[in-house]
Amino acid sequence: MIEQFNQFFNKQSLASTYKPTFVKCLLDIGDCNDSEGKEWVEDKEEHYNVDLNFIVARFLRYYHPLKFKYKLKQEATKNTIAIYDILETYKDLVGIKSTPPLKKFCSKKFSDMRETTIKNPAIQQQVMPKLLNDCNIYEHDSKKILIKKEVVDYMKRNRSVLKSALNNMIAIYLEKCNKKVPDVSTKLLEEIRRKKLSPSKFEKITSLGDSCCFYCGKKSSYFEQEHFIPWNFIPQSENYNIVPACKKCNSSKSDKLPVKKYLDEIIERNKKLENLPVEYSEEFMKTSYENCRSEYHGINERLWEP
Ligand SMILES: [Zn+2]
Repeated sequence: MIEQFNQFFNKQSLASTYKPTFVKCLLDIGDCNDSEGKEWVEDKEEHYNVDLNFIVARFLRYYHPLKFKYKLKQEATKNTIAIYDILETYKDLVGIKSTPPLKKFCSKKFSDMRETTIKNPAIQQQVMPKLLNDCNIYEHDSKKILIKKEVVDYMKRNRSVLKSALNNMIAIYLEKCNKKVPDVSTKLLEEIRRKKLSPSKFEKITSLGDSCCFYCGKKSSYFEQEHFIPWNFIPQSENYNIVPACKKCNSSKSDKLPVKKYLDEIIERNKKLENLPVEYSEEFMKTSYENCRSEYHGINERLWEP
């Protein structure tokens, strides 16, 4: 069994992230609960019959944050890919602010979107047959796959190792398409906790700004920790990127990029900070701002101001 997966991981070139993402979806077969589409997995003595609904529900869920939250390109060019197009078509249904839980992707409400995905040539012609050339782990027709129990058992036992290896494969591919985007591999993790600066570190930052909101300048005794360059672009909470913001500014700015005068101000502010991380420099801040503008915010989108 291990050879079949090794063969897959040893293939150096990927034409897209589809195949490793498809395998990521398969990892759940031996281990899911009722609300996650268990009814689509039929136990047949030596193998499982898996309805493609089971796989595409997961497939859509994996791509949702990559498209809407992190805005990662899936091609080196501006071209979009089929799964992004499908999510775009159904964006009113799935929502773009946060990724719905898997349960929802498995629900009746999303059946149209799943059906569209199943019928898509990308799945029917590019993923399912081609993956079999790389690692021969299932048989398929247009509605389901047949997967041996020993494969499922192997995946179950090695789930976390396989998942890391798959994410690594996906990250390497995506880094090539998103050269100016930081922390691509972090963005593939399902749960990333948004850390906060410790109260004492944040207190120092606030007092450097005379206890005023970094954006509107209003005095207050309470501030929120705001990521100057949106967290979705730099998923870290380092002091150089955290500013104190009043509630109103924080919620109105959200994941937008502020107008340039604030870039100059934060660079000045950072000159007074101690314990800056090693990667920090004035140049780094300017480059991160420009990269965020072109790769995330949108070069023609209006920059935010209070
Ligand atoms: Zn404010």
